[in-house]
Amino acid sequence: MEKAEGVLQRRLINSNKIIVHMGFLYFKGPREDMGDLLDDEHVCSFCGQISEMCFSVEYAITDVFGEGEKDDKVGCVDCLRKGSFEFWHDTEYGMLDENGLTKIYSHNMDNPPPIAEETLRELRRTPQILTWQKELWLTHCNDFMVYKGTWEPKDFYKNSVTGNGRDLFLAMTDAESNHLWDESLAEGKDELDEWYATYYAFECRHCGKLRGNWDCD
Ligand SMILES: [Zn+2]
Ligand SMILES: [Zn+2]
Repeated sequence: MEKAEGVLQRRLINSNKIIVHMGFLYFKGPREDMGDLLDDEHVCSFCGQISEMCFSVEYAITDVFGEGEKDDKVGCVDCLRKGSFEFWHDTEYGMLDENGLTKIYSHNMDNPPPIAEETLRELRRTPQILTWQKELWLTHCNDFMVYKGTWEPKDFYKNSVTGNGRDLFLAMTDAESNHLWDESLAEGKDELDEWYATYYAFECRHCGKLRGNWDCD
C-alpha cells in the first residue's frame, strides 16, 4: 500500500480541468466528490508547501500539532498520504479514528470482522466523501469498499447486465432505503429519469459486488 504514495496521475478532461488521482485505494470517484476540498492553491499547515490540492481540516488526527492546536488546519494531499494528518470515517464496521473502529451508531456493526491496521490506516489517509448528511463508508468481503462516485437512475440502467436498472438498484441498496426508486417514478411511467436524492456508489475490490447508499438535502 505504501507504494501508492506519491503516485500522481494527471488526466486532462474537457477544458483545462485537471483531475488528480493520488493513488487512493478506496476513493475512485471524481475529485469534486471529496469532502472539504479547497479551491485553488493553499499553504499546507503541516508541511508549509503550497499545494493546488488542499483540504480544510476542521479537527485533525495528527501528531504534528499538540492538543489544543489541531483545529482549523489546511492539509495538502501529500501530507494526507504520508499520514501527517488523517481523516476519521464513519463506516459500517464502526467509526474509524486514530484508535481504530468503535461502535457509535446503530449502523455500526456489533461484531465487525478484524481489520488489519494497515487497512484502517489506508482508509484514514483517504478523503471523506462529500455528502448532504453524513458519509457512511460501505463494506464487503471483510474490507472497505471502493467509492466510485454518485449515480443517477441512468447509471443503474447502464451498469445492469440485463438493462433492468430497478433490479440493480434493489440489489445494491439496503431494504430500509430501497423505497427511493419506486417513489421517484412518475405515475404511469416504467423508466426512471431522475430523483431528488444523491446516490453514492461503491464497489467491492475483491468480488466486484456493487452497493450504495443515498441521502438528500
Ligand atoms: Zn502538506
Ligand atoms: Zn465482496
